[in-house]
Amino acid sequence: MTDTLRPTDVAPSDPAAVDWAARAAALDADDPLAAHVAEFLVGPHSDVVAYLDGNSLGRPLRATAERMAAFIDEEWAGRLIRGWTDGWLDRPLELGDRLGELALGAAPGQVVLGDSTTVWLYKLARAGVAQRPGRSEIVVDTDNFPTDRYVMDGIAGELGMTVRWVETDPELGLTPELLAPALGPQTALVVFSHVAYRSGYLADARALTELTHAAGGLVLADLSHSVGSVPVELDDWGVDLATGCGYKYLNGGPGAPAFGYVRAEHQAAMSQPIWGWLGRKDSFVMGAGYEKADGIRGFVSGTPPILGLVPLAASLEQLGRATMAEVRTKSTALTTFAVDLSDAWLAPLGVRLTTPREPAARGGHITLQRAGFREVNDRLWADGVIPDYRNPDAIRIGLAPLSTTFTEVHRGLAALRDAIRDVD
Ligand SMILES: *Cc1c(COP(=O)(O)O)cnc(C)c1O
Repeated sequence: MTDTLRPTDVAPSDPAAVDWAARAAALDADDPLAAHVAEFLVGPHSDVVAYLDGNSLGRPLRATAERMAAFIDEEWAGRLIRGWTDGWLDRPLELGDRLGELALGAAPGQVVLGDSTTVWLYKLARAGVAQRPGRSEIVVDTDNFPTDRYVMDGIAGELGMTVRWVETDPELGLTPELLAPALGPQTALVVFSHVAYRSGYLADARALTELTHAAGGLVLADLSHSVGSVPVELDDWGVDLATGCGYKYLNGGPGAPAFGYVRAEHQAAMSQPIWGWLGRKDSFVMGAGYEKADGIRGFVSGTPPILGLVPLAASLEQLGRATMAEVRTKSTALTTFAVDLSDAWLAPLGVRLTTPREPAARGGHITLQRAGFREVNDRLWADGVIPDYRNPDAIRIGLAPLSTTFTEVHRGLAALRDAIRDVD
């Protein structure tokens, strides 16, 4: 089955002779996850021809629309304040456990949903560096996602630490070879993205973690571009701290709660810096002074985003009907098909692939580069073909495995090819 999903295996030597539409249809016919596509909601007035940005904002499930309405009627309007004691307070931990089991390789009691990725980066990095007193450096790569870079800069300024920048190739990402020379007795924390937001490079999280631990530091992994698309094994890799978005491949909707992971062995000693009432032991005693709650609850700050958990619950149910291995197989087949189309149609027009060619070295999106792509992207959006644009001159094609068809990739890249010709 895997083999039939790899278009390059059967590519004839003359690309001009390939019937790409038939190839896309055959790949869709062989796709074991194809049935999931129909579970997504298409807006009644939707003009979308091809959605190629599931890595940036996932599509809503039909079940999400139904459950939001039911939640408002039954739980919010029906139970009102009683909802908190009915179970809302435990929901971020229960769904965190489920996310941990399905997509993070995390045993129960280590994941909680809430806050944004940016806020988690702050909370977890502060918790982490406090465990390494006397060490003065936070290591970050220069092409990490902007919020990761800014938050670490801010923490360094606040605590009198230094950000040790690792210069990476923007077409790749952080490798063990690049990280090793930046580590030393001053390393408190290494912050890296598992899948690079620009290039799609898939970092070797286990190797980066082992290297960091050998130097005596801790790691904080940002899984925003991998969770729900690439298998993750946090417990097995030895990762100390992790976070990631709920609205990308997890389809939680704009501004969905993010997740925080704190490895069990660190939870008792670590403390996050925003001492809110719902992370306190016995919150409702409303007692004097802050005393951290036990376990992962001690990493909660304020009131959890219960409304925002409704779509994530629906998404996790859907993900529970697939395996991450199946998701990764389809993800790889989708990006491989997109690379093949790009080679056949776009490379002759001067487009460059700035994502690793080797499927095992990339996550769920590919990036293409050519002068004038901002204007091309604007035209595509107006026509309902939706990738995204990133400076400088890059278009990202993000292919969410549960919601994207090969036919959609074919349609989208054909539109991209035609838009380049029109703009020229
Ligand atoms: C999307 C993304 C974020 C976004 O953080 P927010 O707090 O949700 O705005 C952070 N880090 C990475 C690596 C991302 O890809």
